[in-house]
Amino acid sequence: MKDDVFIEQVLNSYRDHKQYLFSATSLHIFVLTNACNMCCVYCQAQDSAKEKKGKMDRETAKKAVDIALQSPNQYLTFEFQGGEPLLNFEIIKFIVEYSQEKKNDKVITYSLVTNTLLLQEEMLDFFEKYPISVSTSLDGDQKIYDGNRPQITGEGTFRFVSSNIRKMKQRGIRTNAVETTTKRSLKPPEKIINTYRDPMFCLGNVNMGIYDRLMENRVCKVTCQASVLEGLPGCCDCVYQPYCGVCPVIFYASNQSIYDREVHSYQCKVYQGMLDVLFEFLCNDPDAKSIFEMWI
Ligand code: SF4
Ligand code: SF4
Repeated sequence: MKDDVFIEQVLNSYRDHKQYLFSATSLHIFVLTNACNMCCVYCQAQDSAKEKKGKMDRETAKKAVDIALQSPNQYLTFEFQGGEPLLNFEIIKFIVEYSQEKKNDKVITYSLVTNTLLLQEEMLDFFEKYPISVSTSLDGDQKIYDGNRPQITGEGTFRFVSSNIRKMKQRGIRTNAVETTTKRSLKPPEKIINTYRDPMFCLGNVNMGIYDRLMENRVCKVTCQASVLEGLPGCCDCVYQPYCGVCPVIFYASNQSIYDREVHSYQCKVYQGMLDVLFEFLCNDPDAKSIFEMWI
């Protein structure tokens, strides 16, 4: 009997753990080319110079989108990869525009994994329009980066990539960077951290000595101001304000603006949606009300 109970418990937990196998696919990766203008030391896509390089054509892209849209999942992510997918930007455009035309009630999120070297204004406009988030690599400072990730010609790429990351962030394009660790980067690990460090919220340092001076810093004042919903247009008269929160650091990290809590922004919609559901329960379901009261 004990064994039966044990097996039942294990079965349930195993079933929960593998629940994802019963869900329809949401992430669809489009490998647009296996060609690339760089030759990173750790590249798996480029591991044979003799390998035949090709690009996805329009007909294949159309079929791939038609298949992806057959997923029963309402929420889909289309991710563009390579090689270097910007070598085939025309097909990125085609996939996004065609899938928008055919998606019916599906919600599609687009993301691009790129080394950014081929980035142009026309592409930035397109990423902003749909929007498409961008993921790139930032392995460390110039010496580490150029050693790990040179162009095919051998020329370093750090200055292009760091300027492109800045450009995308200034345009409000959601941009993430990932670091790949190699033997070269392990020698000066602090240089990797310094590359990612942003002095935006730096108030000073303990050697300045006086608490008041740190708190009177303009950065501190502006951050406090941006943290108060009562002072933000659109939020100051929102009925959900007592239950909502604001974090300028998160807004800055995702959108380069500490005042990103706009009414009808993505986060605002998430908060309003959750609170609509909770209040619906509170008003109409006595059982739910007593459960909520137990939490207080
Ligand atoms: S940018 Fe990406 S695909 Fe190109 S060589 Fe580097 S790791 Fe490989
Ligand atoms: S729900 Fe939206 S409008 Fe209301 S306080 Fe929160 S962010 Fe502001």
